[in-house]
Amino acid sequence: MEAPIHCAPAPDALFKSAGGGDDASPDFPQPDVQILTSAGLRIPAHAAVLASASPVLESIVDSPPKHSSSSERVIPILGVPCAAVAVFVRLLYSSRYAEDELGKFGIHLLALSHVYSVPTLKQRCAKAVGQNLTIDNVVDVLQLARLCDAPDLYIKCMKLVSSNFKPVEQTEGWQFMQDHDPWLELEILQFIDQTELRKKKARRHREEQRLYMELAEAMDCLEHICTEGCTSVGPYDVEPNRKSQPCSKFSTCQGVQLLIKHFAACKKRVNGGCSRCKRMWQLLRLHASICDQHDSCKVPLCRQFRLKMQQEEKGDDTLWKLLVRKVVSARVMSTLSPFAKRKREDIERMLPPQMNWTHQAK
Ligand SMILES: [Zn+2]
Ligand SMILES: [Zn+2]
Ligand SMILES: [Zn+2]
Repeated sequence: MEAPIHCAPAPDALFKSAGGGDDASPDFPQPDVQILTSAGLRIPAHAAVLASASPVLESIVDSPPKHSSSSERVIPILGVPCAAVAVFVRLLYSSRYAEDELGKFGIHLLALSHVYSVPTLKQRCAKAVGQNLTIDNVVDVLQLARLCDAPDLYIKCMKLVSSNFKPVEQTEGWQFMQDHDPWLELEILQFIDQTELRKKKARRHREEQRLYMELAEAMDCLEHICTEGCTSVGPYDVEPNRKSQPCSKFSTCQGVQLLIKHFAACKKRVNGGCSRCKRMWQLLRLHASICDQHDSCKVPLCRQFRLKMQQEEKGDDTLWKLLVRKVVSARVMSTLSPFAKRKREDIERMLPPQMNWTHQAK
């Protein structure tokens, strides 16, 4: 019989009072099983404690012993460093642990707590391993997370890989994985693709929101110019406020005024293919689509546009309606959270040239 090797801080202290003979506490019975590690270490333990901590160990303890002659059950836990097994067994007794133990044996403890079905310990180990992720170990940990079914850790690894792909690709772990687990490589590449796609979508959504906000502000600005008049443009019955300083209400006011002046004077006009006139036309149409002033509205062409829209009620321009809805909701949003005054921008920027309302791709 081989001598037990004490290669680890075995949970001796825990068993001394129990296994030490005379001073055994009456509440704590003698150990009745031994855990055998790869290096031959035998860790005394109590079947009842192991069984209550782990359903897997419970079924091992409950199964009939192979060698009925031996008085004590031996449960081998092989394939991990014996020090890790010792810590694992101790953690089955008490949830108290030192941080450095989880740092040092986290990977092994994660594997053990998964195999022996100890969920709370598994969760803590996954968290600890996640805190010690590096470029060098991330691929190994990722494989482990997948094997051990630790989704949070898996995602954390995937994110680290996808944001550090170049250096990770240089690691031994990556090269080993490429040779031995091409499916995982595929999984990682797909994850990176999806992350990029999500980022792109979010960016596009932000840009669209910004456009709707700007259009909503342009609508307010248009009403402001056509109702009260501003620096150089105003309704015929209002004396223009001919102050030289720029408008204090809307950063886009000057741009809208220039566009209105152009619209009034342009010889080419919309039908002649003038792009600036077209934009003004679209702003006026958009205004009419959201206007609630009815006959008292002073914005040019508002009534005409509304009459035309009533006549064309059946011809449903879904994309235009969608745009109107978005601008209306952006307008509501901007009244709820006042839009920060932006830098002076040209109104033309609000309607990107590629935007053709009737053929706008989703
Ligand atoms: Zn103004
Ligand atoms: Zn023009
Ligand atoms: Zn109107």
